[in-house]
Amino acid sequence: MSHPPSAEFVDIGINLAHDSYDGDREAVLRRAIDCGVRQFIVTGASVQGSRDALALAQAAPRILRATAGCHPHQAIELDATALAALDALAADPLVVAVGECGLDYHRNFSSPREQRAAFAAQLELAIRHRKPLFLHCRDAHADFMAILREQAAALPPAVLHCFTGVAAELDECLEFGLYIGITGWICDERRGTHLKRLVGRIPRGRLMIETDGPYLLPRDLQPKPVSRRNEPMYLPHIAAVIAAARGESLEDLAAHTTATARTFFSFAWETNSEADST
Ligand SMILES: [Zn+2]
Repeated sequence: MSHPPSAEFVDIGINLAHDSYDGDREAVLRRAIDCGVRQFIVTGASVQGSRDALALAQAAPRILRATAGCHPHQAIELDATALAALDALAADPLVVAVGECGLDYHRNFSSPREQRAAFAAQLELAIRHRKPLFLHCRDAHADFMAILREQAAALPPAVLHCFTGVAAELDECLEFGLYIGITGWICDERRGTHLKRLVGRIPRGRLMIETDGPYLLPRDLQPKPVSRRNEPMYLPHIAAVIAAARGESLEDLAAHTTATARTFFSFAWETNSEADST
């Protein structure tokens, strides 16, 4: 992976607690760091996954932060006990956002009604803890915006991660004030090419980048990796595709998306320092 040696990246969505990384998690981080990825926001998508994400952040607090939330797929699990557990996790200083939370009507592993209730409860959690939101939305734009609008006056800064929607949806998100996360979905010639036409609409200061590993391996990597597992070392590749689509240099895109991520997640990052190896 060639990239400007000075470029620094933040992967704002990496499911690093996923068991597919159990055998070589440190090597995964090291490879990414060698490619310029300096910090990582470890996604929590369930109560246990959020505990695991926080444990990883506690073990390497110079480079890792965690989110605490319940993905819409798991909304059915978010009972009072689970919500109390997320509440406790959200109070931890290393937990820098509430989420992943939102709506996903693509598969409806939990019913839309359960998803809406879990989403609203997590918005309240973020408001109470004054933590940013890490949001997910798939095939549910209208309900997603309606639930956000109910809390519009009180909402903290919020990023819609892995945006995959259409132009009108993007414009509505931006007008509402959301930050936008773009993944390697944009590298998918089957379903992501529309994003190349859309990413230029996202103003500087509102765009962040992510791999969503181990999911969403960029489909245009050359040579194709043997493993289907996505890793944060591919973030500079995703960044280069986004930069080209926006008519920006990779250095420029890295600089503004990294600055946005560091501000959004309120972390006094150490720049140009040797990252933890733990
Ligand atoms: Zn997601």
